[in-house]
Amino acid sequence: MGETILVADDSAEIRKFLEETILKPSGYNVVSVGDGMSALTLALELKPDVVLTDLNMPSLRGLDLIRRLKRDLPTLPVILMTAEGSEALAVEALRAGAADYLVKPFDAEHLLAALGRAMALSRRSQDTLKIQAESRAGAQSLERRLHELEALAHIGRTVTAMLDLDQVLTTVVESAVGLTEAEEGSLLLLDEESGDLTMRASMNFDDEFARTFRLKVEDSLAGQVIASGKPVILDEGAPQKIKTSYLVHSLLYVPLRARGRTIGVLGVDNRKAGRSLTKEDMTVVMAMADYAAIAIENARLYNRSEAERVKLETILTQTEDGVIVVDPENRLLLINRTAAEAFEASDPQLGRSVVETLDHPQILALVRAPGRAPRREEIELKDGRVVNAQRTPIDGVGQAVVMQDITHLKELDRIKSEFVTTVSHDLRSPLTAILGYVDLIGRSGEVSEQQREFIQRVRTSVEHITALISDLLDLGRIEAGLDSARETTPLPVLARYAVETLRGSAEHRKLTLETDLPEDLPMVTGDPIRLRQMIANLLENAIKYTPPGGRVRIETMAEADQVILRIIDSGPGIPPAEQPYLFDKFFRASNAPEEVAGTGLGLSIVKSIVDSHDGRIWVESALGKGSRFTVVLPAVAG
Ligand code: ADP
Repeated sequence: MGETILVADDSAEIRKFLEETILKPSGYNVVSVGDGMSALTLALELKPDVVLTDLNMPSLRGLDLIRRLKRDLPTLPVILMTAEGSEALAVEALRAGAADYLVKPFDAEHLLAALGRAMALSRRSQDTLKIQAESRAGAQSLERRLHELEALAHIGRTVTAMLDLDQVLTTVVESAVGLTEAEEGSLLLLDEESGDLTMRASMNFDDEFARTFRLKVEDSLAGQVIASGKPVILDEGAPQKIKTSYLVHSLLYVPLRARGRTIGVLGVDNRKAGRSLTKEDMTVVMAMADYAAIAIENARLYNRSEAERVKLETILTQTEDGVIVVDPENRLLLINRTAAEAFEASDPQLGRSVVETLDHPQILALVRAPGRAPRREEIELKDGRVVNAQRTPIDGVGQAVVMQDITHLKELDRIKSEFVTTVSHDLRSPLTAILGYVDLIGRSGEVSEQQREFIQRVRTSVEHITALISDLLDLGRIEAGLDSARETTPLPVLARYAVETLRGSAEHRKLTLETDLPEDLPMVTGDPIRLRQMIANLLENAIKYTPPGGRVRIETMAEADQVILRIIDSGPGIPPAEQPYLFDKFFRASNAPEEVAGTGLGLSIVKSIVDSHDGRIWVESALGKGSRFTVVLPAVAG
């Protein structure tokens, strides 16, 4: 198909010449007119490939024709034909937009060349226009996409900044509807208990409908999305009835996923025909669904941690123990009612320094004590109560001080001490009196042999009761932790004292007493009186249970960072089955001879003393061969 040339010339002769001699033989279609106005009308209607026009024509001059064509059909090339000598006009025509000009008379070759050039130019400018149009369209779609992304980012920011879940979900639905230009939208959540879907947020739904909306998962389209975890897009010409609810023309449902499960559905739809929902809409709604899922998950986590926080806060504020928590700069993070009352801080300001808040030197000293080790302090409050305050460092927080009211314990302790003093005095005094009078009987006159024996029995019994009382009192004091004296003490020296005290009875029983108590041992920390008592009890047992002629050995030595005490005898030993009960109160082994006096409390006292000095004690013994008691105490470093 050849190109179409519109020829405009008032000379019929020239029209005929151009048409029949040049253009048609060259394969062009030709339409010829004799005036400018007809040329314009036809050009607009036919949209020829080139217009070939004379300069002087009736109704519309060639130059004006060029201008009008340039305006209405900017890519249509127009070639002007002029008479010789009117070059100035030709320049004007070029300025007006003519593609070329030919000076009459011209030959066929010139005309065809000019036509070829004009058409090539026209094609190029058409191409350019097309590219321009395409890039404009591309830019527009990019702009739209950018706008969409901006909207999404904005919604993302808004949504994550909102704490109220209902508001977040409503914003999500509104944004999904807005971005997809849908009519209405809803967010359905799965009720885990009933398995139904309920409408959690909506836009353009009747309020009552939204509030009472409940859908069985099994028989709904939304349920399909829940079950498959995949989006659904419906865009048929015919409206669809979405199970028991309402008619829509187009619909888009996407899953809401949280913690690997589908927890709900975000949907937009159109009830009217003529609006469709596309794959692009789906991408947008899925992004909104992600926001909603994040918000729901955040809200769930927030609610859970909030519930935990409230629970903890309730425990801390309601507990009878006082609690104070400070940051590393000793600024108050928490002070509960009990603590505030204890220190008479009527309106404690969180965030302020404890120094400004609490007017009590002892608690301030405890809080500000250097180091990170836990510390314990008994603090006397202004109202006379005593609290046991325990400071504990907490990583990443600061430190906490927990205080228990021990006023009643202190009172009990006082009563007990009083009782101990009274008992020891009140019981011991009559016993001393009995012993005194028993001694006097012998001196106040002649006593028979039998009476002498009775007097001896009374004396033995009284001595036994006295020993029992003093053992019981000792045990009570040690177990109650009343012996808190702690000194750096040399264990061999204490052992030597004990040996000296008991050497007499060892000799009396004809025992060999061996000692190995080197002086250069590390020290131990403890109460020297109790430690000496512990050594004496063990040594006394060895001496009193070992038959005459036997051997008793006491030795001390250092090992690693410990000091070891051993008391070894060649006595009767302890039956293996009874060894586990040896340190129990009032326990006496079945092979303990009747005539050997004892309360059964000596080893209990020993064990209590060793325990209260962070030591260990054990026995190795074989029947008939002897026993070996070992005590290990921590040595003082350095
Ligand atoms: P007691 O006052 O009876 O000596 P202890 O508590 O000191 O009470 O000792 C408990 C029991 O352990 C003793 O009754 C005795 O049977 C046994 N026992 C303690 N030390 C020895 C020892 N060195 N050899 C044999 N038996 C011992």
